[in-house]
Amino acid sequence: MAKENDEESMETLSVHAGRKVEESTGAIKSPINLSTTFERAEDGSYPKGYIYSRNNNPNRESLEECIKLLERGERCAAFSSGTAAAMAVFQSLSTGDHIICPEDMYHGIKKQIDDIMKRWDLEVSYIDFTDTEEVKEGIRDNTELIWIETPSNPLLKVTDIKRTAMVAKKHDIISACDNTWSTPILQRPLELGCDLVVHSTTKYFGGHSDAVGGAVVANKNVDIFDEIRNIQVEGGACPSPFDCWLISRGIRTLTLRMKKHSKNAMNIAEFLQNHSEVEKVYYPGLKTHPGHEIAKEQMNSFGGMLSFQLKGGKDKAFDVTSDVEIFTRATSLGSVESLIDHRSSIEGEESQTPKNLLRLSVGIEHADDLIDDLRAAF
Ligand code: PLP
Repeated sequence: MAKENDEESMETLSVHAGRKVEESTGAIKSPINLSTTFERAEDGSYPKGYIYSRNNNPNRESLEECIKLLERGERCAAFSSGTAAAMAVFQSLSTGDHIICPEDMYHGIKKQIDDIMKRWDLEVSYIDFTDTEEVKEGIRDNTELIWIETPSNPLLKVTDIKRTAMVAKKHDIISACDNTWSTPILQRPLELGCDLVVHSTTKYFGGHSDAVGGAVVANKNVDIFDEIRNIQVEGGACPSPFDCWLISRGIRTLTLRMKKHSKNAMNIAEFLQNHSEVEKVYYPGLKTHPGHEIAKEQMNSFGGMLSFQLKGGKDKAFDVTSDVEIFTRATSLGSVESLIDHRSSIEGEESQTPKNLLRLSVGIEHADDLIDDLRAAF
């Protein structure tokens, strides 16, 4: 577990990182700068450093600076969604390259690889990342990227980030970690040796279910970031200034929210673990979770996401989702309000997720109210 003072500095950073008092008015909150283009000087130069909003703009620059500092990275590129951020990482590779991904990962990115990237000749292997030896054995001559997601979506599998990044480094392979679920408040993959961190900023960073965005952060001396920046600007999947502003605003309370999400999720996991209608609980904070010790090493606390399987199959799972009153039936995660989601039906036909599994995005309401809501629905 990280030191107490580390948490304190994250609190200060999340309030101040990337923030500037606006020079012309003294406004302590940056305005939303909607201008798509910026005036050139008589000699054709750009005296304020901005050219055109897709290339860069003050709100995006401020958000990128903020996320970069929180992840302790060197550079950051913000995107119009988490999947666009992931796509930029895959597109920065060459045709014929091979990537290794966890068998349990966010289904949208898996679909993106299978439906789109494979057509561009990207090869992929899905492997059990809870065993680093398996990852090692999966490496081929053309492997260029190891993609980590921990805890994973929706089975909360834990990958040892340090060991996996070391394997990648030893074979001269890029390692990227989707850190959406943990955020840098709970886990910082770049400090553990990863080259890249990827985010859906739609989730905990934004924190209020009102803006879609993504980001890629690079560690020091990661050359591939130049290509990712090119893809951001030339591919054009850029976030709007308004979305950047909303996500930056969300980050100001990130440390407080992550503490509360984690505390509530731990309480709910303990309640579920002792409930007679529950078959299995997936939460890395529980001592019975197979990844608990690794999670304890690499995370400050265990986050706001958990899944559980119900006795009584799919029908029982649907009964519970229709009877809850405080939890809202919806996909997505990371916001102040609690959500409950039947994953296999949203993941589609090919989903491997058990049909009696429900995923919770635990919000910041009172834990007792959330537990009472679930108890009544059971
Ligand atoms: N990564 C993870 C772990 C996610 O859970 C999600 C969405 O749920 C994404 C990436 C994709 O993010 P977005 O919806 O912003 O494209």
